[in-house]
Parts: sequence; structure tokens; C-alpha cells
Amino acid sequence: MTTSNGIQVIAIEEHYLDPVVDEKVGGKAGGGPHIRERLADLSDVRLKEMDAAGIDIQVLSHCPPGAQAFGPEDAAEQARGINDRLNETVRTKPDRFAAFATMPTQDPAGAADELERCVEKLGFKGAMVHGLTQGLFIDDQRFWPIFERAQALDVPIYVHPGPPHPGVIDLYYKDYAEKYPAILSAGWGFTVETATTGLRLVLSGVFDKYPALKIIIGHLGEGLPFLMWRINHTFMHFTPPGIDPVPFRDIFCEHFYITTSGNFSNPALLCCVQEMGVDRILFSVDWPYIENSPGTTWMENVPLSQEDRVKMLNGNAKRLLKM
Ligand code: MN
Repeated sequence: MTTSNGIQVIAIEEHYLDPVVDEKVGGKAGGGPHIRERLADLSDVRLKEMDAAGIDIQVLSHCPPGAQAFGPEDAAEQARGINDRLNETVRTKPDRFAAFATMPTQDPAGAADELERCVEKLGFKGAMVHGLTQGLFIDDQRFWPIFERAQALDVPIYVHPGPPHPGVIDLYYKDYAEKYPAILSAGWGFTVETATTGLRLVLSGVFDKYPALKIIIGHLGEGLPFLMWRINHTFMHFTPPGIDPVPFRDIFCEHFYITTSGNFSNPALLCCVQEMGVDRILFSVDWPYIENSPGTTWMENVPLSQEDRVKMLNGNAKRLLKM
């Protein structure tokens, strides 16, 4: 199966919900009933909507918070159960599904071991992490065992949004949050959190320590490609004496891949292509938060060559995820 113009379509930020995680967060993961019903479906509804939009393969990932819902005492054990159940799903339709592992980030060493188990034993394509862990960004050195193992296994870590820190909500957003909850999520807050994570990863030095580390971020790079020149210029020219300038553009373009999840904009895509090159851009939808068909219809009509379209729809994913 393929889209009407005959190109295989691999979508790589497509979510689901494990019942044990849902129970842990009080049956509230994912959002409203329409979303929750789709997140929980791993067969009929999902496949029907994939088929209708011409999506051949979903690389499945748990929606926030995944295994990050669990404390350090049982996070690794819970993650093993969640990832094993995901593996059972993938095995029911190995031609339609692949998987990113959920990471028990509250136990970084356990998370690194679980990443290795999922990649080596289950054939997963990498892992996804969501937002903050106990208020900490993922660039904090206590999480570096995950990055060390990802480099050793040669798999990417997908850095996915999560809600802003409660202190940030209080200071920046709360007076609009009740009337416009989107300010905390995909309307603004998710983007700021994840762009900040991307910048912090570059500043952290994690790519000096692990020079083959690969990071994926969604939503056409969370605004960072648009801001590339200015971030790069400022960190190159306005760093204090004795501190090395940061070549943000070089580091970002060497280590980051971006996806189209929930951001089907021609101007934004063309900016990303100009800043990063098309080899760094992978198709994704962000299903079920976003519908599939607007994504595949958009890709059919993006003002780029057929060769570039094929790279975004499957070629780059096949290379990066070894599919
Ligand atoms: Mn998503």
C-alpha cells in the first residue's frame, strides 16, 4: 500500500496508550474521549485510518508520560512491561508497525539497560523521552547514561514535548491557561519546552562526549530552524571571555533530525530545508492528536522535488532507523 502517487509512507511520531500507564495517571492520559479511544486502539481503527491516508508504517511511541510516570523504585520494571506489550503489538503486524521504546528516565541507568534490551532483543528503532523528569531537563548529566547507550547502539533518541514546569506555568501562562489551555500545550508551551531542551542539549556538551549521538525533535524542529541564524550568531559572538563560543548551527545540523509532526506548513518546511537540508527531515503526523490525511495530502503537494519527497516519506527514516 502506498499513497496515490506510489511512494511508501513511514510516519515516525505516532502515539498509543498502555493501560498500565493510564491507570497510573488516573485514567487521564492522552486527552478527550476521541483521542483516548484512538490511542488505545492498536488494530482496527488505527489501521483503517492509516489505510485511508496511505500510511504504510507507523513507528509507535507511547504518549506522554509513558514510563516517566513511574518513580525510580519501579520505573525500569514497569518500562519492561510496557515495552514488551508494545513489542507484542508490533509482532502482530510487523509490516505495518515499528517501535520506539519508552524510557524510565527516573532511573537513568535502568533506562540505558532497557534501551539496549529493546534495541537488541526486540528490534526497536530507538527511544522517546517526554519533557521534564522530576522538573529536570533531559540534558542534565544524570541522564547521560541514556545518551551514552544510544550512541553505543547507534539509535536516535526522540525528544518529545511535555507540559511546562508548574513554576513556569505560574509565572508565564496561568492568566490565560483557563480560557486558552492551548497555551500550555501544542499552541505554545510544548514548543518552548522542547526548543529549550534542544538548545540546552547543545550547550550541555553531550555531543562532545558522545560525538555520534543522534537526536530527533518533532514539529519541524520546534522553531529552532527558523531561529538558527540568530541563536548561532549570539552564542558565537556574545560568549564571555574564557568560555568557548558555541557553533550552534554546526552542532544542531550534525546531531539533530526533525519531523513534520503536527506542523504541515510549506513556509516552515522550506525554511527547515534551507537551514538543515532535506536529508534531516522525516515525515510524521502525531496521530491521533493530528489526523493522518492532512499530513499525507500536504506531502503530496509540497513544493519540492519528487526525490526530496521520497526522502522525507521513507528514505530518511529507513536510513536513520535502519528499516
Ligand atoms: Mn506527539
